Amino acid sequence: MSEITFQDLALADPIQRALKAKGYTTPSPIQAKAIPVLLEGHDLLACAQTGTGKTAAFALPVLDGFARNPRKPFRRGVRCLILTPTRELAVQVTESFKTYGEGLGLKVGMVFGGVSEKPQIKALYGGLDILVATVGRLLDLKQQGHIDISQVDTFILDEADRMLDMGFIRDIQKIAVAIPQQRHTLLFSATMAPEITKLANGLLHNPKEIRIAPQGTTAEKIDQHILFVKKADKQNLLLDLIQEHQANANNQELSLVFSRTKHGAKNLARKLCSLGIEADSLHGNKSQNARQKTLDLYKKGEVRVLVATDVAARGIDVKNITLVINFDLPMESDAYVHRIGRTARAGTSGKALSFCSEDEVALLRQVEKLIKRTVPVYSHEYHAAQIEHHHTSGAPAQKPKQGGGGGNRRPRSGGSNSRGGPRGSGGSGNRGARPQGASGGGKPKPQNENRPTGGFQKAANGQRSNRSRGRSGR
Ligand code: AMP
Repeated sequence: MSEITFQDLALADPIQRALKAKGYTTPSPIQAKAIPVLLEGHDLLACAQTGTGKTAAFALPVLDGFARNPRKPFRRGVRCLILTPTRELAVQVTESFKTYGEGLGLKVGMVFGGVSEKPQIKALYGGLDILVATVGRLLDLKQQGHIDISQVDTFILDEADRMLDMGFIRDIQKIAVAIPQQRHTLLFSATMAPEITKLANGLLHNPKEIRIAPQGTTAEKIDQHILFVKKADKQNLLLDLIQEHQANANNQELSLVFSRTKHGAKNLARKLCSLGIEADSLHGNKSQNARQKTLDLYKKGEVRVLVATDVAARGIDVKNITLVINFDLPMESDAYVHRIGRTARAGTSGKALSFCSEDEVALLRQVEKLIKRTVPVYSHEYHAAQIEHHHTSGAPAQKPKQGGGGGNRRPRSGGSNSRGGPRGSGGSGNRGARPQGASGGGKPKPQNENRPTGGFQKAANGQRSNRSRGRSGR
């Protein structure tokens, strides 16, 4: 957080009051840099990590503009248009506008696909001050004549890199030509890939540029590790880690697991539920209403573990996520930054553990290249030394085929004894830590199919499994 306070920023009184009510006193770095620039009316190209407070960075100046220069909504019309890549992010951005703009009496609406158009059309009819939209539904409604974007004066692209990844470039351009060229344009992106710069050149006029973190940098407060594991052991490892996290975390803390496939997400959530863990999945095959319901339960802590695919990654803004597990590494390395950015939100700390199986070595190399650092290795019961060796040797590695995630179908044989931990951590003050090599003469422990049933299921003698007892000799 920066030195200045919100009081130092020339934001209208109702906005200051809303910020006070929310308990925000200090602008985050992106807010401290972007808000003054936007209040001066400049176009903006901002590269900011997820979880940095970028939504308020654009919402507050927009709301300030409405407070100082109210414009009457007109039939089917919109003044400020925000494009987001996903429905979840649209909901989150809309909530932010409503929270910070409380007291301004503005009409804020959203449109996104996967749900009935009717309520959205109805809301558009009387006109809106601010509309948050996903690209496809916006164009559908525009083509049907339900929305008039010819008087948009503020155009914001949120998470533009993600929109490009999803193939929306042409649609964005269609929208951009349908709104006035004389406008205020803001583009936010987590990365500044060449395609983003190209898009920005076509849309922004003489923009100010803000970079909060260098490209691909992952949130500093996230404690990241890589776990080399055979594909067939991924599921058991996951279960161990989740159970261990739940044993050590307070009951407000949540975990988020990323799976490459919808099918994988569904299966993993089901498996966790079958072991008595409150889990659910979030993926593109679920209806929008079902997705929102799952997210609400997760936010309330009624679902403690959420298994999601990348399509759901961006819109998840839940404060208590203290553990993110990449069950599968993402095909696109940018997604790694976004996924792990779901933890350590708003200045808190969090842990991110990523599994790497033999066919994911190329993906790990890609991630490390992007974030310009080596992800430290985490030791665990299923450590696959040969995969680590492949990674460090630099021997050629192929990317897996798209949709090839999902992991193992092998039945869980019992043992829950991950004893995982950052390599070399020595274990003290870190339950579950096991410096690699501390036992077994430096060799990773072999798999033990006959280990006692672990986790929180009681052992036959009524005692906790060995994992929850002390760590003698370690
Ligand atoms: P964002 O990067 O916009 O998704 O925001 C990340 C999280 O930070 C959200 O939960 C916001 O509510 C929270 N947040 C944004 N700005 C501030 C601030 N100045 N002080 C404290 N929390 C904030």
